[in-house]
Amino acid sequence: MNTTKHEHRTWAEPYKIKMVELLRMTTREERLAAIREAGYNTFLTRSRDVYIDLLTDSGTSAMSDRQWAGMMLGDEAYSGSENFYHLESTVREYYGYKNVVPTHQGRGAENLMSKILIREGDYVPGNMYFTTTRLHQEMAGGTFVDVIVDEAHDPQDDFPFKGNVDLDKLDELVGEVGADRVPYISLEGNVNMAGGQPFSMANLRELRGYCDKHSIPIMLDATRTVENAWFIREREEGYAGKSVREILREICDMTDGCTMSAKKDALVNIGGFFACNDDDVFVKAKNLAVVYEGLHTYGGLAGRDMEAMAQGIRESITEEHMAARIGQVRYLGRKLEAAGVPIVEPIGSHCLLNPEFVRWSVATSPPAGILSQARTGSQNSSWFA
Ligand SMILES: *Cc1c(COP(=O)(O)O)cnc(C)c1O
Repeated sequence: MNTTKHEHRTWAEPYKIKMVELLRMTTREERLAAIREAGYNTFLTRSRDVYIDLLTDSGTSAMSDRQWAGMMLGDEAYSGSENFYHLESTVREYYGYKNVVPTHQGRGAENLMSKILIREGDYVPGNMYFTTTRLHQEMAGGTFVDVIVDEAHDPQDDFPFKGNVDLDKLDELVGEVGADRVPYISLEGNVNMAGGQPFSMANLRELRGYCDKHSIPIMLDATRTVENAWFIREREEGYAGKSVREILREICDMTDGCTMSAKKDALVNIGGFFACNDDDVFVKAKNLAVVYEGLHTYGGLAGRDMEAMAQGIRESITEEHMAARIGQVRYLGRKLEAAGVPIVEPIGSHCLLNPEFVRWSVATSPPAGILSQARTGSQNSSWFA
């Protein structure tokens, strides 16, 4: 058998299709006219003009039969909806955090967390950044500092854990500003801006040790951490025999709380949550949720949305699902490589990026060690998916 880099072994899809969504077929001329009219900005196109939509995975998943069935179980009481308690127990079971506040999507959770934890003049280190995450940190008075490993900045480097935190960079920051100016480290699972790249458990363990020593909490961006768990099993010594579910729990147990955009791993079209173990932070999050999201038992969502999210979480950690999710990205990635299209290496979990994108995002990331610079602000707030 030919075993080139581009060889692909297919997988069996763990679902069958029961309903189809009708699409408008377009001609090349129509598509060219549409993209021209949108100023070549894919965020300004109308979806009716897009036949194959590869913009983002955000909120675009087809929901399963069980998720749709769950929608019929929506308990739309203003307070204390049954669906909230189901969501809460599901997050506790799979992610392991004690306290849960639903939010309308990930950025709603980021808003609550940033407002609660960050004080004016603080520094928030992160393994690269996500646009909304960073913007909320900055709006709360913090300065984002990039502490990801250098390998992540090189789109062609095939290091298997490009999501790792560089402990030396973190230590440099802490030495410079003092641990009391670092409210938490913002740790993202499967770093989006680096092309869907995981951190290793060894790196997280080392980070936990460092943070314990300096009393710095670790707040996880859990949006794609199930995928991160999958890569740990695939690539890290000692994890081949563990389930994705067990690894996800091991990751969360080493962190203090999370924000979640359920529009990605958790397979819903809208939804998110903030979770934490600290009871004081929880009380503050519930109070702020009332201002920005809705009562703490619905957080800007309908009861049925919370039910779909709870079911989505359950399905997202199944082995077959993750094999298909990551498998389809690899399949497309290998086709692109074979066609000579440059993409970020190694092929990540949920997206394929043009190498230029990573270069651009690095150019907008203030690295550790140049803190004397004025705060840069997000120059890229047009990219939010
Ligand atoms: C999408 C995303 C967010 C923001 O979530 P929304 O649901 O879009 O508000 C935060 N972090 C990461 C890593 C994301 O991919």
